[in-house]
Amino acid sequence: MDSSPHANSGEIRVAKSPVMSKVNIVHPSFRLAKDHSMNQVPAPRGVFKSIFQWFCPPKQDDTVPQNMSERLDWGRLMPFIAMHLACLLVFFVGWSWLAISIAVFLYALRVFTLTGFYHRYFSHRAFKTSRLVQFIFAAIGCSAVQRGPLWWAAHHRHHHKTSDEPDDLHSPKQKGIFWAHMAWFLTPRAQRTNLKLIPDFAKYPELRFLDRFDLVMPVLLALSLFGFGELVALGAPESGVTGFQLLVWGFFISTIACYHVTYLVNSATHLIGTRRYETKDDSKNSLVVALLTFGEGWHNNHHYYPNSTRQGFFWWEIDLTFYVLTFMSKLGLVWDLKGVPERILYPKPKAAPEPIPMQAEPVTVHAS
Ligand SMILES: [Zn+2]
Ligand SMILES: [Zn+2]
Repeated sequence: MDSSPHANSGEIRVAKSPVMSKVNIVHPSFRLAKDHSMNQVPAPRGVFKSIFQWFCPPKQDDTVPQNMSERLDWGRLMPFIAMHLACLLVFFVGWSWLAISIAVFLYALRVFTLTGFYHRYFSHRAFKTSRLVQFIFAAIGCSAVQRGPLWWAAHHRHHHKTSDEPDDLHSPKQKGIFWAHMAWFLTPRAQRTNLKLIPDFAKYPELRFLDRFDLVMPVLLALSLFGFGELVALGAPESGVTGFQLLVWGFFISTIACYHVTYLVNSATHLIGTRRYETKDDSKNSLVVALLTFGEGWHNNHHYYPNSTRQGFFWWEIDLTFYVLTFMSKLGLVWDLKGVPERILYPKPKAAPEPIPMQAEPVTVHAS
């Protein structure tokens, strides 16, 4: 993660000359840290540094000023595009029922983890759990390649503080649907985890480790899928399963599906749907998004009362994550699930305004 004030190398820079303005893609390896006057030594910068920091990010250092640049960072953008392009390898690796089953299973597991734990637990503390279960689901969440639990939850808490205001990082109202869906997290401004927003979980060293080295779990998942596929190919070659096939289906296709349903909550549910509650933002309730994301589509409910474990407030508002968390509470894995108070479910209608008299009352004018 970039943390230095001049770490926005490898971006699309807009160069303005007196003659003409043009978009200039500067190859980062040719530039020095010249905007840092005290540092005459060429600093490791650019797209390569960005990619390197995916695997080995610097330690969180709040003394270094936050890089507030909102230009796309090539070092983040290229791997993101590559993840999408890798799905096209499906035309070379083919399919098998095993590959599709694993892709669906990993989609379901990771969407549940993102909604149930990254969102409702780490961001909103909507229930309690043990340190072990907390760690297990933080690790599974990392495998969805949406950064670590502290990064995710801190940014989400910021969203609730500023939703649809100019400082909101992913408001479609402020910057459009494309930005809100999948551009905001590719900028230097979004890279750092603001630990001040998440001190309650940042105190756990194992979570800080996962958050800093957030690519460990995705790499482990990808390697496991490839290895398992190769084992199946050895033991049952007639199945047609290969390591690359499980990698493409179980990692790339499944992860990209997780990506875009998660992003819909930031983009679509602030644009399309119905509003039950008056909130200061544009949040909406959407059955389609709720079905795809296992309950996150009831976003207007959620913005109105974010602390509840359930986001579908009524029985007809399908909320799969809540059902699974309820089942987990029966097993003793989670507890103290927070409900929705009656006053929230059925807010009192505002008192009707005094009727305006049709005729103005006569005004008595006193002669002085
Ligand atoms: Zn929102
Ligand atoms: Zn939330």
